[in-house]
Amino acid sequence: MTTSENGPNSFHEVELNQESGCLICTALKKFQSDCIQKMNDQKPQSLCSVHTWLVAKSVDAEAAADILLGMLDLALEGESYGSTCEICSWVEQREQLESDEILTRLRTPAYQVWFRENAGLCIPHARRLFDQIPEELRETIVSPVKKEARALKANLIVLLESARAGTQTHPGVLGRVAEHLVGKRGLQIKS
Ligand SMILES: [Zn+2]
Ligand SMILES: [Zn+2]
Repeated sequence: MTTSENGPNSFHEVELNQESGCLICTALKKFQSDCIQKMNDQKPQSLCSVHTWLVAKSVDAEAAADILLGMLDLALEGESYGSTCEICSWVEQREQLESDEILTRLRTPAYQVWFRENAGLCIPHARRLFDQIPEELRETIVSPVKKEARALKANLIVLLESARAGTQTHPGVLGRVAEHLVGKRGLQIKS
């Protein structure tokens, strides 16, 4: 048996995830799209606005149409439709699991060093970890977030100045700042 391809080389996986922003958001986006794929078999009873739109924009039109058809009937019958969202509650549970995993890894000095230098975290997820980590490790959480915020701020100033001068550069910066402030687009992150 070999684990080299799909094995539990989690340290390496985390390094790869970092390239695309917040560690927790990245894991949640993947989890969320897996949830939507699985809705073919297990139809949702009620979804919030964000997740209804996500189903409507699903790449698999057949599955999306089938799910929305069921939801339409339920919405017409159910008085409390939309008050609870199944995907939100699954994502929230997963969010805690991902946070716990990082908090466990942060007990290892080698991971602490890597994390301080490289970890990507949006502000809501940094706050979440900050509130749950022992006080002596809080700086480890704050350090990469401040580093990212400084870099984004510098880019934002360049963008603002060039926009005022009538030239547009770095359009991707705005999206990265939004992601840093509220988490990845398409996720319903509660701060
Ligand atoms: Zn995040
Ligand atoms: Zn939802």
